[in-house]
Amino acid sequence: MPPGLLAYTAPVKVRVSSRGASRLLARHPWVYRSDVLEGPEQAGLYPVYGPKGLLAWAAWNPASEIAVRAFRYRPTDDAERSLLDNLERALALRKASVEAEPGGGFRLVHAEGDSLPALVLDYYAGHVVLQSGSAALEPLLPRVVETLIERLPVQSVLAKNDQRTRTLEGLGLEVKPLFGSVPEGVWVQEGPVQYRVDLLSGQKTGAFLDQRENRLRLRGFGGERALDVFSYHGSFALHLAQGFRSVTAVDSSADALARAQDNARHNGLELTTVEANAFEFLRQEEKAGHKYDLIVLDPPAFAKSKRDLERAYAAYKEVNLRAIKLLREGGILATASCSHHLTEPLFYEVLAEAAADAHRSLRVLERRGQGWDHPVLLGVPETHYLKFALLEVRD
Ligand code: SAH
Repeated sequence: MPPGLLAYTAPVKVRVSSRGASRLLARHPWVYRSDVLEGPEQAGLYPVYGPKGLLAWAAWNPASEIAVRAFRYRPTDDAERSLLDNLERALALRKASVEAEPGGGFRLVHAEGDSLPALVLDYYAGHVVLQSGSAALEPLLPRVVETLIERLPVQSVLAKNDQRTRTLEGLGLEVKPLFGSVPEGVWVQEGPVQYRVDLLSGQKTGAFLDQRENRLRLRGFGGERALDVFSYHGSFALHLAQGFRSVTAVDSSADALARAQDNARHNGLELTTVEANAFEFLRQEEKAGHKYDLIVLDPPAFAKSKRDLERAYAAYKEVNLRAIKLLREGGILATASCSHHLTEPLFYEVLAEAAADAHRSLRVLERRGQGWDHPVLLGVPETHYLKFALLEVRD
């Protein structure tokens, strides 16, 4: 090396600003790129330092807006092992349920909620669908699969990495089997009903497991007419059809509704399906003077970002207002929001405003959220996204 020239050595650690440090100290696992002072050029697992020393170990990706995703706050000399330990813990939490109901559906790994950055593993009757959104974790996926099949009775694992957020990490989109032979679809038991999960072509990982316990909660309600709005493949509707004489499932996706009909047939149940924009449908029903005994509202996330919040607030209010008007006195509104931007207090504010505008009272029967297999980290609002309220309409 010529004298006077310093050799350039790539940093083997990430250094964050004091603002980034205070997030990690408060145990929010994410540090944005704008709060990073220095880091390696390559994505990987690295220690993160603040002005006062080591803060955490994280999945690091300099190409991502969320450059640091912490998975451990204590020192380690084997970062991979620590990450796999988090996986072991996640699997241990679900093991008893999977073994008690091997034909059921469970979330095995809930990303940050299980200290496994951007990693989701959903179990559907012995078949697991994996989604990963962190470039740093990508090389570890074979070890993730190895650990999974050692710990749980799993017949196949499919990587369904087709979510657009992967491009923000510089990752490609691909759907490919990682283990075993992946069937096109599988029947999943949920309490008294079964629904079919299209492993290869369904929305998300194939179904919405976060609402499993809320769907089961509606068992025991009964009456004449029930409505399942934003129904997808009829998940709530199948449960409602146990207790209501007539059940209508509404969705804008014809494909999802065709599968709702298949699901109903498979269970020996009857459903009416309506392909429509939910807002339009509810308006029409009001005009027609129809009344319902129970309405489920499970809309997609209207607020995808904080900027959308005002518009989303109005949309949530509108669907709830319309549903409240369609319910008979004493009727039940089972309503959800899966936008973490619409916080729980805001969600209840929306409902209170909608009820006030309809000149009706809403009596809270129960405040619920996502199922236990979607753990929430307090202080990390991104992990607490699903709100679910069970309300009774009073005049
Ligand atoms: N309730 C379902 C999940 C619903 S996901 C379950 O428990 O499994 C949201 C659904 O809303 C999707 O199926 C999507 O096709 C549908 N959707 C989105 N926008 C819509 C709109 N404007 N009108 C009707 N359906 C809509």
